[in-house]
Amino acid sequence: MITGKNYIGNELSSTGNTTYKTFNPRLNIENEFVFTEATTSEIDEAVALAIKAYKTFKNNTGKEKAAFLNAIADEILALDDELIQTYCSETGLPEGRAKGERGRTIFQLRSFADLVYEGSWVEATIDTDEPEREPMPKPDLRKMLIPLGPVVVFGASNFPLAYSTAGGDTAAALAAGCPIIVKSHPMHAGTGELVASAIIKAAVKTNMPNGVFSNLNSSGIEVGVQLVKHPGVKAVGFTGSIRGGRALFDLASQREEPIPVFAEMGSINPVVILPEALNERSDLLSKTYAKSITLGSGQFCTNPGLILGLKSEALTNFTRELANEIVKIEPSSMLHPNIFGAYERNKSKAFNQSGLNVVSVYESEVDANFGRQAITTVEGKTFLENTTLHQEVFGPFSMVVQCKDAEELEKIISKLEGQLTGTLISENNEAENYNGVIDALKNRVGRVIFNGVPTGVEVVPSMLHGGPYPASTDSRFTAVGIHSIKRWVRPFSYQDWPENMLPDELKNENPLQISRLVNGKQSTDKIN
Ligand code: NAP
Repeated sequence: MITGKNYIGNELSSTGNTTYKTFNPRLNIENEFVFTEATTSEIDEAVALAIKAYKTFKNNTGKEKAAFLNAIADEILALDDELIQTYCSETGLPEGRAKGERGRTIFQLRSFADLVYEGSWVEATIDTDEPEREPMPKPDLRKMLIPLGPVVVFGASNFPLAYSTAGGDTAAALAAGCPIIVKSHPMHAGTGELVASAIIKAAVKTNMPNGVFSNLNSSGIEVGVQLVKHPGVKAVGFTGSIRGGRALFDLASQREEPIPVFAEMGSINPVVILPEALNERSDLLSKTYAKSITLGSGQFCTNPGLILGLKSEALTNFTRELANEIVKIEPSSMLHPNIFGAYERNKSKAFNQSGLNVVSVYESEVDANFGRQAITTVEGKTFLENTTLHQEVFGPFSMVVQCKDAEELEKIISKLEGQLTGTLISENNEAENYNGVIDALKNRVGRVIFNGVPTGVEVVPSMLHGGPYPASTDSRFTAVGIHSIKRWVRPFSYQDWPENMLPDELKNENPLQISRLVNGKQSTDKIN
């Protein structure tokens, strides 16, 4: 049941005076529950508990952490319809989407459970000593990954489950051995509290230390700012806008002890359509892209906001077909009046840029908070000269850029900010003639898709969800898939430690039977 309170470790608390409600954008009314914003003393208490919990949680075995993560997944499923209905009432998204996202969240939790249960993820590396080595004896060195400490997680408005309270950041950091304090997203505070209650139940059932998880409500930025500045916090996970992610990154760097902020932010996801592909598949492409641009009312970080092609009659025809197709699709509710408002503002700002042509906008009457889709087009030269046109319009909006030749196309790609994805639409071997374009794309994005759409992020180890800044603040890491655990750990070396004081991962016997790099060879063998 939703209480509107904060979870400070295992206890519910609401000592503050500031309250707020979530909003049902589909019905255009406030939801009934009242949430109490966390106070400074509640923030301090949550961090103090997390620091204390870290002392034991960092030493919990992989099997114990796996039991915790699986129990979280079970408890989320047990929330059943209450969770789904709350999700829908706080986002305007349909039930199918809620269930799909819950499935993904459960899968992520179980994937991390499997990873830590098996144990080899710690990258145990051992170089045994050579006491007789001349001129100096060689020491015994053993290295593995260890957790950073308490982590603060900020979730995104558009993924209340998979990128929020028990989403990818939380699952990965708990798997690593880091306690979590979630700064709950104000637009889905009820969904957040229900998921938090599931995490707390799982923690109690599996004997995790009190403080391994806290959930703090907040309707403005102050709670998040205090958390990022708190000396007890050792890392931050953020999914959201470039403005928000950058503000938190700057704040974390200005601390006396700077800490890492892994921010996954907005993107316009360029799609390059090569000429032969356009000639062969214009019809199919316009239908496919109309759907991709409007999916979830365009509220995906991988939404295709920029389509690049070589100026031609075929590109003009494609743009017209895309414009016709997109207005055939019924608009849907956006997540919140503020998101809808921002969409309308950013769309108008784009429309007002000199040289931009609006090819189509959905014009019929729609309900409040429904996003009207739009297709625009611009010459390559105009796009290059005006960086306002490079900014994300979060919603069902896309811009077709007509490049004068392959050289201009390459130049435009290389001038883009860092992106989560790039897509290349090519006919047979056509792409082989565009190595410069492909290289430019690889340079600016985290993942290149051949002949597909960027929307849809598979949760597998080979996924890279991130990219050069500002797609993320650290392009060396992914936010999706098991390798995202690497954001929450640091390598640590043990030199000449007595065998009995080493962690199991590094003992000669290899009691966990994990795969280790021993004297340059990968093996599961024990050391004699
Ligand atoms: P947002 O406005 O940046 O909010 C995200 C969270 O950060 C909220 O909890 C917000 O708190 C907090 N926040 C924002 N600015 C802050 C600041 N200056 N100081 C402290 N806290 C701050 O983003 P959103 O509207 O929820 O999400 C939409 C954006 O997320 C889009 O740009 C989308 O592309 C991106 N996104 C990216 C990914 C990815 O994986 N890369 C995934 C999903 C979404 P308050 O609301 O209380 O201010």
